Amino acid sequence: MARVGFAEWMALGRVIASGQLARYGGQKPGPLVKFEHDFAAKFGVKHTLAVGNGTGALICSLVAAGVGPGDEVLVPAYTWIATAAAPLAVGAVPVLVDVDETLTMDPADIVRKLSPHTKAIIPVHMANMVCDMDAITRIAEEHDLIVIEDACQAVGATYKGRRVGAIGNAGAFSFNQFKNINIGEGGAIVTNDDRYFARARMYHDVGAVFRGHLDNYNEPHFPGVNLKASQLQGAMLNVQLAKLDPMIERMRKRYRKMSSILSTSKKFRVGPHNDVENAIGLHVIFDTADEAIAFAKQNRRGVYRILDSSRHVYTNWQPVLEQRGVHPHMNPYSWAPRKIDYSEGSCAKTLDLLGRTCRITLGEQYPLPMMAVLAKRMVSGFDRLH
Ligand SMILES: *Cc1c(COP(=O)(O)O)cnc(C)c1O
Repeated sequence: MARVGFAEWMALGRVIASGQLARYGGQKPGPLVKFEHDFAAKFGVKHTLAVGNGTGALICSLVAAGVGPGDEVLVPAYTWIATAAAPLAVGAVPVLVDVDETLTMDPADIVRKLSPHTKAIIPVHMANMVCDMDAITRIAEEHDLIVIEDACQAVGATYKGRRVGAIGNAGAFSFNQFKNINIGEGGAIVTNDDRYFARARMYHDVGAVFRGHLDNYNEPHFPGVNLKASQLQGAMLNVQLAKLDPMIERMRKRYRKMSSILSTSKKFRVGPHNDVENAIGLHVIFDTADEAIAFAKQNRRGVYRILDSSRHVYTNWQPVLEQRGVHPHMNPYSWAPRKIDYSEGSCAKTLDLLGRTCRITLGEQYPLPMMAVLAKRMVSGFDRLH
C-alpha cells in the first residue's frame, strides 16, 4: 500500500484550478496523457490506457482480445474475486487452476485444466509474487491461447528483467488504495497490440467512435461502457508513478534481508519464488496447518496465514460458485459448452497449501534493521517453542 501525501494534494489542486477535470473535452491533453506515456515507457510497452479501476481493466482486456460466450478462461483459485468475475462480464466462464508453492498458477495444473473451449489464461501476480511466465507463455503458444496478466497486486514488480503485466498479450493493473500505486480507485491496461488498444479504448468510452478510437484500425464499431479515468486520477498517478521504483527497491532489500534470516529456521521454509533475485513478496511454508496457525498467532504484526485471508480463496466466491448471471437470460454458464466444476475438491491442493502458508509483509515504510530484528524473532520465537 503506497502512501499519499502533500505532493498528490498539490497535483490535485492544479487540476482543479485548471477546470479540466474530465478526460476529453479540454484544450490540452492533461495529466492522464502524460501518465499513459510515462507508464508505457517505464513498462516497455507500446500502449497504456488508464481506466477507472482494475476490474474494469481486466474486462476491457478481455473485450479487446475478443473473449466471449462459449469461451473458458483459466484463473487461479487464489486471487481477488475480480479475476474470476471479469470473464463472466464478457459472457465467458472462469475455470479454476491450482496455485503451487510460489502462490501463483501451477503450470502443470494449467495443462490439466485445458479443454477444447479454453480461450485465454489470466495469470495473477498475487501479492507481488510473480508467475512462471516462461512456462505460461510456452503453454499459451502451444495451445494458441491469449494471456492477459492480472498485475493488479504487483504493479512495478519484475520477472526476469521485465515488468509483469507487460509480458502477455495484455496486462491489467489496479491503483486502488491497497496496491503499489494508490490513488484510491484507478486502473490501467497495457498492450503492444494496436488492435487490442483500439478495442479497449472503444469499449472504455461507451463506443464514442467520434473521438477517433477506431481510426486507422478497420475495426467494426461496437458499444461499450464508461470506464474512463478523470484528470484528477491522472494527476495523482503522475506523483505516485515517481514513487514506485524507490518503494520497490526498499521492498527488494527487505526481502533479501528477511528471507536470508528466515531461511535459517529448522521448522519452516521460505516459499519459492519465480524470480528470487527480484522478489518483493515473502511467505513461509510449514508442514502442518497447526504450525502455520501458531506462527501467525505468535507474530501478529505483519504476519497472517493465507487461508485466514479467505476473501482471496475460491471457496468464498459465492456469486461465482452459484453460477448465476446478472439476469436469468444473461447467464454465461448457460452459454458454456460444458458443466464447470467449482466444488471444494476442485482445487484441494490450493486449500491445503494456503492452510500451511503465512505471508509476511516487508514493512518498506520501516527501517531495514528493525525488519531484520523482527525476522530474527520470528525464527527464534518459533523454533524454541515448536
Ligand atoms: C485489486 C485487484 C483487482 C481489481 O482491482 P480494482 O481496482 O479493485 O477493481 C483485480 N485483481 C486482483 C488480483 C486484485 O488484487
